[in-house]
Amino acid sequence: MSSGAVRKMLTTALTHTGLTDSVTGGPLHFTPHDFRRLFITDAVLSGLPPHIAQVIAGHQDINVTLGYKAVYPDEAVQAHLAFLARRRAMRPTDEYRVPTDEEWTEFLGHFERRKVSIGTCGRAFSTPCIHEHACVRCPMLWPDPAQRDRLVEIRDNLHARIEEAEREGWLGEVEGLRVSLAGAEDKLAQIARHAASALVALPMPTLRRKP
Ligand code: SF4
Repeated sequence: MSSGAVRKMLTTALTHTGLTDSVTGGPLHFTPHDFRRLFITDAVLSGLPPHIAQVIAGHQDINVTLGYKAVYPDEAVQAHLAFLARRRAMRPTDEYRVPTDEEWTEFLGHFERRKVSIGTCGRAFSTPCIHEHACVRCPMLWPDPAQRDRLVEIRDNLHARIEEAEREGWLGEVEGLRVSLAGAEDKLAQIARHAASALVALPMPTLRRKP
C-alpha cells in the first residue's frame, strides 16, 4: 500500500465516524506518519526504554524520539520503572540470592578465558563460542593494539597462502582465506582508528612572563 492510499483510507474512515476536531469543529485529520507517534508513545508508556524506541524509529537524536511521544519525559521514566518492577516480580526469587563460591569462580574464570592471542573476545557471559574460534574473522573480537605486529604477520601469511592456493588450484580454500584476510584487515583498521582517536596529553597552561 502506498502512503497516499493509507492517507485516503484514513480520511474516508474519519468521515464515516462523524468525529470532529473539538477546537476547530472541522473534520479530524490524520496522516500515515501519525502512526509513528502513536506507536512510540504506546511503546514508551508500556515501558520500552526511550533509547530503544529511538533505535526502532531510526532517529539520530533521542530528543526527536522524546518529541514524538505525546507524554512528558517523567511519564516515560515512571513507565519504565513500572516495567522493571513487573519484570522483577516475574523473575524467580532464587535469582537474587548470593552466588556460591563455585559460581563466583566460574564468573571470574569466564572473563579470564576471554583473552585470545590477538585481543579479547567480547561475547556475552556464559555463552559458548559459536564462531568456531575463528577469532581473526569474528566481529566479537576486540583486537589488542599491542598485538598489531602479530596481526600484520597473519595478514601477510594469508596473502601468501592465497597466492599458493591459487597457484596450486586449491580453489576451495581461496574463498575461506579471503574471508580471513578481510577479517585481519578489518582488525588492523580498527586498531588504526583507535590509535587515531586516542587522547593526546596536553600540558597544563602556564603564565608567560612579560619580557
Ligand atoms: S571466534 Fe569470536 S566468539 Fe569465538 S572466541 Fe573468537 S572472538 Fe570469541
